Amino acid sequence: MTIFEGKSVFSGIAIGRIAILKKDKQSVKRTHVEDTARELERLDAAKKKTIEELQQLYKKAILEVGESGAMIFEVHQMMVEDEDYLSSITNIIESQSINAEYAVATTGDNFAKMFASMDDDYMKARAADVKDISERLISALQGRGDASLHAEEAVIVVAEDLAPSETVQLDKKKVLAFVTRYGSSNSHTAILARTMNIPAIISVEYAEDIDGKMAVADGFTGKLIVEPEESVLREYEEKRRTELEKRQLLQELKGKENVTKSGKKINIYANIGNVSDVANALANDAGGIGLFRSEFLYLEKDTFPTEEEQFQVYKTVAENMAGKKVIIRTLDIGADKQVDYFELGHEENPAMGYRAIRICLDRPAIFKTQLRALFRASMFGTISIMYPMIISVNEVKQIKSIVEEVKKELTEEGIPFAEVEQGIMIETPAAAIISDLLAKEVDFFSIGTNDLTQYTLAIDRQNAKLDNIYDSHHEAVLRLIRLVVENAHKEGIWAGICGELGADTTLTEEFVRMGVDELSVTPTFVLPVRKVVRDME
Ligand code: PEP
Ligand code: MG
Repeated sequence: MTIFEGKSVFSGIAIGRIAILKKDKQSVKRTHVEDTARELERLDAAKKKTIEELQQLYKKAILEVGESGAMIFEVHQMMVEDEDYLSSITNIIESQSINAEYAVATTGDNFAKMFASMDDDYMKARAADVKDISERLISALQGRGDASLHAEEAVIVVAEDLAPSETVQLDKKKVLAFVTRYGSSNSHTAILARTMNIPAIISVEYAEDIDGKMAVADGFTGKLIVEPEESVLREYEEKRRTELEKRQLLQELKGKENVTKSGKKINIYANIGNVSDVANALANDAGGIGLFRSEFLYLEKDTFPTEEEQFQVYKTVAENMAGKKVIIRTLDIGADKQVDYFELGHEENPAMGYRAIRICLDRPAIFKTQLRALFRASMFGTISIMYPMIISVNEVKQIKSIVEEVKKELTEEGIPFAEVEQGIMIETPAAAIISDLLAKEVDFFSIGTNDLTQYTLAIDRQNAKLDNIYDSHHEAVLRLIRLVVENAHKEGIWAGICGELGADTTLTEEFVRMGVDELSVTPTFVLPVRKVVRDME
């Protein structure tokens, strides 16, 4: 038995034989040509063929992984038609009098290096995409087919790396799991694997002699166990059975409405912290994103994320959700989420200190950068913006005036943006108590029960000693929730819950009865909550 450790990008257990995916390596020779015009014609024909192939792949992917998963092939089409990419190829053919294949390979390498050297993780991951389309163009020039899997039975696919087009082209029925040596959790291949609901592990330093051997791919711990001992195998077979039963039951609820027997409906959205969680939200059939904790963007870095970096992230999330609502919460730094470069300094009571909207209003330059990125991204999907830790109407008025400044600047710069829904989090007793006044100022409320419990009960949510009395079911918390929902409805706005309590299935019925319009929960809780809603009267 040999265990190779990697990083999980999608959970699940797969047991089966390993098939190492061998790619038909394309050898590209540099050849001198007299007739460069003829090479340009060949390039043009190959480009057309490639676009046709990508359109076919797009159609296939829509059926298998849905619109958001298929989007990568639209991006690939755009890349093939990209002016910079094409003029680099043309220029190499003409200036060096060489064959089109070689010019495509050189340009592909150059562009991939350029992407790989970028700081932004999302852009870095695009290196694999540009390599993918270049190989496809070369195949079209050489009249070859794609890399494929020659296996009779379903297998654990092991590869150096997998391009998105290879991933969807594989016969899904024959793939038990994906295991790669390279790749990133941000790559489209990882996103596709999650969307396809197939366990996936990356960064596995596997040995070549594992081909054809029996193995277990543990997508929970990121382990590839080759030739497992009998007892280990039995243990995993049991785990897989339980896992499949659980999934099966819940999968039956996919595509079904969140509606009670008497016809009352509620939205069930997902909470996410980064782009890669979107696939999980979709895989669990979330109706939208109810809370994107944008501060994780800041926490992952050692300096402020730029407007462009943020824009790319928000745009990707909006695009991947394909028109479904995406509620992005502005920066909620401070308290337990400390970031050195903010230089917040020591505080006696950080949970009640300089945090979230208080920092944003005090340092408008940071806030405006985020708002600009959000408004720019609003053109690529349905984005709503939500502000955390509100305690007063005055704060909302200050936010509105900064938002107006941002919109004015964007308009002057000719940058398009959509009108977005703007709401606030209700996570302080103050906000809950004056929710009648706040409701006149905003488009929606989202109740943050984690903080609302902490502040209502005066119990630090971080203090392990008080864990047994930190009680989100406390009557005071529930009364505040009820009050907030009533006040929202009186002003004709909607109210949801995005704190952990929203996923507490022992309270789902009560929330539906209170008239809560939306519950935003960890992706894996979407279907369990749906089940309770559908089972109630
Ligand atoms: C909350 O307070 O309930 C909430 C959703 O925000 P966070 O947990 O990020 O503080
Ligand atoms: Mg909170």
